[in-house]
Amino acid sequence: MTADNIPKDYDHKKESIWQEKWQENQLHRFIGDGTRPRYIIDTPPPYPTGSIHIGHVLNWVFMDIIARYKRMNGFDVLFPQGWDCHGLPTEVKVEETHSIKKNDVSREDFRKMCVDLTRDNIATMKNQMQSMGFSQDWNREYITMTPEYMQKTQLSFLKMKEQGLIYQGIHPVNWCPRCETAIAFAEVEYNENETFLNFLEFPSEDADKGVMIATTRPELLSACVAVVVHPEDDRYHELKGKKVQVPIFGQKVEIITDSEVDPEFGTGAVMICTFGDKTDVSWVNRYDLDIIEAIDEQGIMTSAAGKYEGLTLSQCKEKTIKDLEKQGCLIKKEKVEQNVGQCWRCKSPIEILVKKQWFVAVKKLVHQVEEAADAMDWIPEHMKTRLLNWTGSMDWDWCISRQRIFATPIPVWYCEDCGEVHVATPEMIPVDPTQVNPPWKCQCGGSTFQAEEDVLDTWMDSSISPLVIAGWPDEQFKNYFPADLRPQGHDIIRTWAFYTTLRSKALTGMEPFHQIVINGMVFGEDGHKMSKSRGNVISPESVLEDYGADALRLWASNSVPGSDVPFAWKDVKYGYKFLRKFWNAFRFISMHIFEFKTPDMDLTNLKPMDRWILSKLNRLVEDVSSSMAQYNFAQIINPIQRFIWHDFCDEYIEAVKYRLYNDDNDLKSKEAAQYTLKTVIETSLKLLAPITPHFSDEVYQHLSSDKSIHQMEWPAVKVDLIDSMAEDTGNLGVEIIGDLRRFKSSKGMPLNATIKETNIYTSSSAMISTIKPLIDDIKGTIRISNLNLDSGKLDIQEKVVEITPLMNKIGPEFKGDAPKILSYLQSQDPQDISSALEKEGKITIEGHEISEEYISMKKEAVGKSGEKVDILHLNQGIVIEIII
Ligand SMILES: [Zn+2]
Ligand SMILES: [Zn+2]
Repeated sequence: MTADNIPKDYDHKKESIWQEKWQENQLHRFIGDGTRPRYIIDTPPPYPTGSIHIGHVLNWVFMDIIARYKRMNGFDVLFPQGWDCHGLPTEVKVEETHSIKKNDVSREDFRKMCVDLTRDNIATMKNQMQSMGFSQDWNREYITMTPEYMQKTQLSFLKMKEQGLIYQGIHPVNWCPRCETAIAFAEVEYNENETFLNFLEFPSEDADKGVMIATTRPELLSACVAVVVHPEDDRYHELKGKKVQVPIFGQKVEIITDSEVDPEFGTGAVMICTFGDKTDVSWVNRYDLDIIEAIDEQGIMTSAAGKYEGLTLSQCKEKTIKDLEKQGCLIKKEKVEQNVGQCWRCKSPIEILVKKQWFVAVKKLVHQVEEAADAMDWIPEHMKTRLLNWTGSMDWDWCISRQRIFATPIPVWYCEDCGEVHVATPEMIPVDPTQVNPPWKCQCGGSTFQAEEDVLDTWMDSSISPLVIAGWPDEQFKNYFPADLRPQGHDIIRTWAFYTTLRSKALTGMEPFHQIVINGMVFGEDGHKMSKSRGNVISPESVLEDYGADALRLWASNSVPGSDVPFAWKDVKYGYKFLRKFWNAFRFISMHIFEFKTPDMDLTNLKPMDRWILSKLNRLVEDVSSSMAQYNFAQIINPIQRFIWHDFCDEYIEAVKYRLYNDDNDLKSKEAAQYTLKTVIETSLKLLAPITPHFSDEVYQHLSSDKSIHQMEWPAVKVDLIDSMAEDTGNLGVEIIGDLRRFKSSKGMPLNATIKETNIYTSSSAMISTIKPLIDDIKGTIRISNLNLDSGKLDIQEKVVEITPLMNKIGPEFKGDAPKILSYLQSQDPQDISSALEKEGKITIEGHEISEEYISMKKEAVGKSGEKVDILHLNQGIVIEIII
């Protein structure tokens, strides 16, 4: 390749060509044969919504930088891509698009509709990921809805069931009446809203003193099973153990005491309903109270609610309050703020129902999860606390059954005769119990079975991802497990990180990964969460079209793990400009370095500016490598950009141009410059390769005929080239050349114009020896005919070169004599007039005394030779005298 082939402008539309080439050449393939150290990334499987958003971009740029960096460091990198397919959002979408409810069609048909939609969505998202240049190994793609994956999820169910870590039980669950399914605690969102606290009189059993309770949920009166007060609340001391009557329904309930009651809230007396909230559940367990199921799965009042049967919760609430008022039981109402649990998906208020469900025995595993969390390396460290706090707050087991369709089936049947639970054998899975029957008979002799229609929580699929990518359950999996890295968002620490750790401990006894890197969320440019209603959503496509993937990647890489980041167009545009600046510099250099081939360059020929930039380059390699190890991405890209843009393009290239055109005189100097340019370009491109993979390959192809830059080794630090003295010298050279260049432009001189003479003065002998080796560069770059370095003091005089009479003063003062005064002033040597004024304070013309206030003087500095000079004062006492 020659310099002639290099296009004038960098075209980001070529990014797609590189993406295809990388795929064709299988550059990102994980080999796994153990010939190189392995590096396994347990990447998040996104939900196939049909488009990747800017938050995905941030997360995947982090992963891609790490993967590419590790490959360049000789690792065999496994960067898989998974898809976490199952769950409500797809079911809801299918119901919407086909205008059906899930039960309108057969389970099989409904599932097929979900699978089709998911396949399409995955295809779109995969394309979007490829257009970002992400380097997943697509041979390692996994899709949780496939039979192969479901087999592993079901196997994990069987194994944990066998260990007694999965059980079926009647237990209160969080229930969404709209979605008609149980949901996990991690899926409950809490929201503040305003409601009424109702003060109700509960008469005592023996018509003695009653008790006033305060409640926000009068619609649950029918399910009231006790009244509870604080043991030290004097107001209720005598009532302990007595019974009161529930208004409207008339059931008699005991007054019990518990220190969890807040005496300050309401009246300090609370009714326990099954179930108003989470505390009700613990009281019911603690005091072994009855359970009255007053709400059904759709949120409709049951027969337990008596005359309110068939009403919705809110209708029931309204009617109950009216009835209470009528009966005189509602004493007063107070507005109050409350924290209501909502379904994460549809925002309906959550109810607590009692259901036969499948559970993972979280409480048995809490200690192991904490142990694993401590064994893992958290980046940033404080994110570990989030997991530990969550783990410590666990008082319910994990409800893993869902009453939906599109999910991994629970491989279980029940004997229709005796109700015995039959679990599938490992040989039978994957199995959908609604489609197949067990090939055996029940112990009772029965041979008809009822399939478990509940399905598994989707976190049951995704929480085995590090096991699946390692090839579990094949014994070989231990070679690829634990994963080296888990990258994920902080919003799913309580779910994905928690569940994965728990499942990995239960299934293997090991922690699932060595390191976990947490990324932040992306906000809109206005600093708010991105949302359609705010209109601040930025789609990745809208950036790619005009600026390309590398510019977007540059924005994303300017951040650090753990911190939320606003999207910033200005960063994208800066990245776009940066790449073009680098391209132009490369294009200029290319014509000078193509014919250059001396790999065994004699480093003693390097000139001061070469040593300066090479020292800075090696320091950069050292810093970037150490920031990579800490995943401190902002500390990677910012120093690289500053180095390339300012040190290299603005300073170094300018300071060596004169050497490149110098064919006859000093070939060694020219070669040293060529060597340095080539080294800096190549090394910088390698540092940039993980961040801007397309651009780096686009440039690199002109330097290397056959290989991709992504097959190159990460640059090693050449310690002997890091030299503080060389950097000080070069910095001084940059300062002197910069000041002289600015001087030229302030005088309107073209940069290639010649300056007749320049004298650099400094009284420090150390400074003399620092500047001496720079003389050629200063002379050559600024184009100075005669450059001297002088240890003496600057010898200049000020000389008045022009006198301008001030007519607005002379005219009115001297009237008729003014013209004579004027012509006298103009006829004399300006310096003589100035000297006379200095000596006498005035001069006499035509009998008038003229002082300094009647004229203005223009002074100039004049050097030893008597010529006009300009003076520049630099740091460290350096003075430069310039004669144009
Ligand atoms: Zn819901
Ligand atoms: Zn049976």
